[in-house]
Amino acid sequence: MGTTPRIPKSTVTNDASSDPQPRDGVVRHVPHGLMFHHFHGEHFSPSQGSIGAGTFGQILAHYLETRQVLDAGTYLRRARHGQLESDDVCITFDDSLLCQYEIARPVLERAGITAFWFVYSSVITGGIETLEIYRRFRSEWFDDIGGFYGAFFEAVAESPHAVTVATALRTFEPSTYLAEFTFYSDDDRRFRYVRDLVLGQKAYDEVMSIMMTIAGTSPAQLAKGLWIDSAQLRRLHHDGHVIGLHSHTHPTTLADLPIEQQRREYLENWRILNDILGMPPTTMSHPCNSYDAATLAMLESLGIELGFRSNMAPWTGSKLEHPREDHANIVAALGLSDTHPQAAERPKHAERQRLAGRRGS
Ligand SMILES: [Zn+2]
Repeated sequence: MGTTPRIPKSTVTNDASSDPQPRDGVVRHVPHGLMFHHFHGEHFSPSQGSIGAGTFGQILAHYLETRQVLDAGTYLRRARHGQLESDDVCITFDDSLLCQYEIARPVLERAGITAFWFVYSSVITGGIETLEIYRRFRSEWFDDIGGFYGAFFEAVAESPHAVTVATALRTFEPSTYLAEFTFYSDDDRRFRYVRDLVLGQKAYDEVMSIMMTIAGTSPAQLAKGLWIDSAQLRRLHHDGHVIGLHSHTHPTTLADLPIEQQRREYLENWRILNDILGMPPTTMSHPCNSYDAATLAMLESLGIELGFRSNMAPWTGSKLEHPREDHANIVAALGLSDTHPQAAERPKHAERQRLAGRRGS
């Protein structure tokens, strides 16, 4: 890519591949973001990979001790001027989730740190995105993720897509699919492969719709309390956090869309955030890490100055591809057990009972 690295050469060459094996498996000597998604606590049920405020605090404490944790605005300023140091890290939240605002924000506030919030905007303007709805359905309606996968593949087998999926799975090799996400199990990979590459959005929606009807719930019911709103975004912005782009509807394979459609996704996202915040967003993260050279050129044309990937693959210094460490990797490397399925068991059952009660009333 023709992007001129704006980072001092010493940090660019010091990428993850040349890094001596770090003591705790987490430390990487390039500036990067820490990427957070789901949090549990209060009325937010545990879900796959979610962490609580305590674990978030422990992660923060670890980085405050071993690295330079920068405010989002400082990270952006240093990135803009090529002044990031190899020890610099920043905190990032993807996907416009209310649990981040309710559970993680107070922890950051106590530590006096601001973060990047990468927001997909359809859900800010009253829309519903199935990505999060389905996740909630999975975690609250099934005893564990295995139970969901079982029910999903049963529904697939009874759908018009049965033969297509069975044929595709005959030659599927889990270890080679999404290999960079080391925390995925073979079942996780099989499910994502079928969802993203075999079924595609429309057929996957059909299968999920059948499953939700059988369970007696609906997308509208599952959408309640999931996403952040525009007043909360304004408050974050007012408090010094940096709000950035994450597309409008969060396609899972954005790079497969024609560039004009990709542009519409980001332009609409840009327009809505610009309206809410009263100033143009200049940062972003790539939904599901899906982008190509055309995406990057288009983002640059929108005035985006800083972008983040979703992994720690060696960094070229590209300003729109800053690496990020997934919180799942951090939790594993630091030996924190918050995401262990057992820890999530009891509240999940309770929540399911609650939903089942509501269904019956
Ligand atoms: Zn996302």
